Amino acid sequence: MAFEPSEKLQAILDMINEFVDKELIPMEAEMKGKEFFAFEGELEKKRQMVRDMELWAPLHPKEFGGMELPLMDTAMIYEALGRTPFGLYVFGCQAPDAGNIEILHKFGTEEQKEKWLRPLIEGKIRSCFSMTEVEVAGSNPTWLLTTAEKDGDDYVINGHKWYSSSADGSKFAIVMAETNPENESLHKRASMIIVPTDAPGFNLVRNISVMGHTGEGYASHAEISYQNCRVPKENILGGEGMGFVLAQERLGPGRIHHCMRWVGIMNRCFGLMCSYAKSRRRTPTEVLADSDIIKTYIADSAADILSSRLMVLNAAYIIQTKGVKDAMKDISIIKFHVANAMQRVIDRALQVHGGLGMSDDTPIAMYYRQDRAARIYDGADEVHKISVARRILKEY
Ligand SMILES: Cc1cc2nc3c(=O)[nH]c(=O)nc-3n(C[C@H](O)[C@H](O)[C@H](O)COP(=O)(O)OP(=O)(O)OC[C@H]3O[C@@H](n4cnc5c(N)ncnc54)[C@H](O)[C@@H]3O)c2cc1C
Repeated sequence: MAFEPSEKLQAILDMINEFVDKELIPMEAEMKGKEFFAFEGELEKKRQMVRDMELWAPLHPKEFGGMELPLMDTAMIYEALGRTPFGLYVFGCQAPDAGNIEILHKFGTEEQKEKWLRPLIEGKIRSCFSMTEVEVAGSNPTWLLTTAEKDGDDYVINGHKWYSSSADGSKFAIVMAETNPENESLHKRASMIIVPTDAPGFNLVRNISVMGHTGEGYASHAEISYQNCRVPKENILGGEGMGFVLAQERLGPGRIHHCMRWVGIMNRCFGLMCSYAKSRRRTPTEVLADSDIIKTYIADSAADILSSRLMVLNAAYIIQTKGVKDAMKDISIIKFHVANAMQRVIDRALQVHGGLGMSDDTPIAMYYRQDRAARIYDGADEVHKISVARRILKEY
């Protein structure tokens, strides 16, 4: 299957690509050595331009101001937006808000939708997703120490989380906590609860320094201590014991979007690598691209990008036509394959740029640093590989 975009989608992609090239990539030079939050004012102007072009929130529901495009279309949009670190944020479809929007829309009450979902889609507030804990293995999501106990009309939450991305400046967190520890099924013990970040007992301990960068605001990863944190029981999302059902819903399409953003990153680094290889002289008469070794970097990267792109679109096609359950194996395959392919492509691009690649004069070093995490978050490589092999071996 060629996975050609429709005429209408191609027109949208053309507009997005032009916007990325003209409005966003030129901003990157100013970003050097600064944190994302320093640009929030400037980025808000770009967001308004996107709203005026009626390209805001491509994957989110129309009734709340989004475009509500099908998954295959949004996958290609993520590829286009992945070419710049500002892309998703400026078009209103950045993680972790996108995943939170999905579950709020599917499982939220009318009151929760008005209070949290609408301003989130409109880009007036931000949110975070608070599941991973400091003391226990995040790779085993049935093992949570955070509890939410009923007390009168409230839940009282106690626990110690970290890597709650974007928590700094968020209005609320969706917190995974055990509400039914006595349930026989390990998968029915946890629930998701909406916790306003100004609730008593919500303590942001610190923004974790990651690869030498203490991100702030949208680009933060927080450690959070929930100490007798009290929220009304209406803040439960989708009902008690539904945490894993919601987590599954959240991660299926989410992984398509992550992986297509990574394809966008690969495209960007590949373009930089090829241009540099053709322009950088290694002798007065020869450029880097004259070397056969450099040609193998280019060929291997082209293969990494093409295989990744086709595999992600194939998984998106299965989700769109059959549902997430039928795509579980394919979702796990793309998660580890594309994360590793991206790292190989970024690494080759950096190598070809030599000292320039290590500098912050191109975005390659930033991608190298930031996107190493792709092999860890949303399930480490090993976890997905084990899951894929298990599913395959069942057939033998
Ligand atoms: C940049 C970044 C952003 C993140 N954002 C969020 C967020 O917004 N919200 C949130 O809740 N969490 C977030 N996380 C946390 C992330 O989901 C976890 O780090 C991940 O699930 C792994 O859990 P862990 O760190 O506890 O590693 P562990 O579970 O302790 O595993 C450590 C390592 O052991 C190996 N391993 C684990 N299990 C197995 C196994 N069964 N077999 C073989 N090897 C295994 C893997 O190599 C793994 O990397 C983020 C993490 C990062 C790095």
